[in-house]
Amino acid sequence: MAQKIVTRFAPSPTGFLHIGGARTALFNWLFAKHAGGKMLLRIEDTDRARSTQEAVDALVDGLSWLGLDWDGDPISQFSRVDRHKEAVEQMLANGSAYRCYCSPEEVDAMREKARAEGRPPRYDGTWRDRDQSEAPEGVAPVVRLKSPNEGETIVDDMVQGRVVIPNKDLDDFVLTRSDGTPTYMLAVVVDDHDMGVTHIIRGVDHLTNAARQTLIFNALGWNVPAMAHIPLIHGPDGAKLSKRHGATGAEAYRAMGYLPQAMRNYLARLGWSHGDEEIMSLDDMIKWFGMDTVGQSAARFDFKKLENLNGHYMRATDDSELLDHWKVYLAHVENGETILNWLSATENEKTALAALSGLKERAKTLVELTQSASYLWRQRPLDKDEKAEKILTDEAKSILGELHDTLNGVVDWTSENLETSVKTYAEEKELKLGKVAQPLRAALTGRGTSPGIYDVLIALGRDESLGRIKDQSV
Ligand code: GLU
Repeated sequence: MAQKIVTRFAPSPTGFLHIGGARTALFNWLFAKHAGGKMLLRIEDTDRARSTQEAVDALVDGLSWLGLDWDGDPISQFSRVDRHKEAVEQMLANGSAYRCYCSPEEVDAMREKARAEGRPPRYDGTWRDRDQSEAPEGVAPVVRLKSPNEGETIVDDMVQGRVVIPNKDLDDFVLTRSDGTPTYMLAVVVDDHDMGVTHIIRGVDHLTNAARQTLIFNALGWNVPAMAHIPLIHGPDGAKLSKRHGATGAEAYRAMGYLPQAMRNYLARLGWSHGDEEIMSLDDMIKWFGMDTVGQSAARFDFKKLENLNGHYMRATDDSELLDHWKVYLAHVENGETILNWLSATENEKTALAALSGLKERAKTLVELTQSASYLWRQRPLDKDEKAEKILTDEAKSILGELHDTLNGVVDWTSENLETSVKTYAEEKELKLGKVAQPLRAALTGRGTSPGIYDVLIALGRDESLGRIKDQSV
């Protein structure tokens, strides 16, 4: 039977899910799903100061919002410290690691000397072959890997191809510090091995680590997992994506009104493609995903493209699902609570749901949707924007007065009947439709632009509509 594919997403808790991390998680997830395998989640929480519960929760929250799940419980790297130390004991015993008693000052001096002589600054192997009986009293040693001095280490990368690193460039790096704590380099290898990871998929910034980690796998006599180092995400200007390009956390995109399905689709296309396909369902992505079509060059983040894609998903998502996403959005933004309170009344939720199909046609994000939906919950008499104020001239107000009486006569409050009634009124008065529709819009929504007025009349219902028209008429 073929080996079951196991990938892992291994974020360090930084306080939020970075958008690059989200994309790495997505690739791991898609790769595993495509193969019917598993994706595991490992929290690299060895930096105790940063690894607060809040920071871990933020990662989990970001992944959950994106709909990326993992198999089993998240694994804490910190909790596995004893196992990391055990692996080091194994390497000390088989001669692939050694204790080094150099003080930090000595190591610094070595580096300085190498630099002065024009060599790469690195540890010079002082304790590599020295007898441990020469160990100075009372000095806690670090443990270093006995890296091969000659030859080369090959990383056969699924994205970067065959990467050859001369071993002389990989010095005897530290596995455990003098206080006994394992380094990142060691912990990752031991965890990946014990978790049964078959494929390591992560950012290309980890490529040099891959060579060092390969040496550790070899030293422990373990199989090296397959590796795929994916290109980084750059900002529109070509520099590595950072705060100065705008938001970098998944939660910020949620607050900017993007839908998780749009985000997923957008992130999948950052570095991966399938022919000319731009809009892909989750099933399509799972079916099509593979490292063979992940490119090597950095992907540029294109906010406009994300916005357009989001607009597409807004329109394509069915109303009740969109309502759910909207509630999630509202739960994470300022002033959202007031709207959520309003929505919590069944009657209001029904009203919102009825209005959504019209609203979503015009909104690219949930922010825009919220703005254009605001007529639903704003209280009479409505505040008016500048455009609405301008529309509501004395003439417009008297039109509204007549319109009020006309619409009051509509027995069956349906979109068709209302349209017929408004049009008939305009014809009788020899007014252009806009002359009637614009004041109506301003009265009903307090805005100069809005969803279609018949949608608005239906969403608000007879009494509220007539009330708002009355408020603005003379
Ligand atoms: N914790 C590392 C990071 O957040 C990832 C380590 C790995 O994927 O091997 O960059």
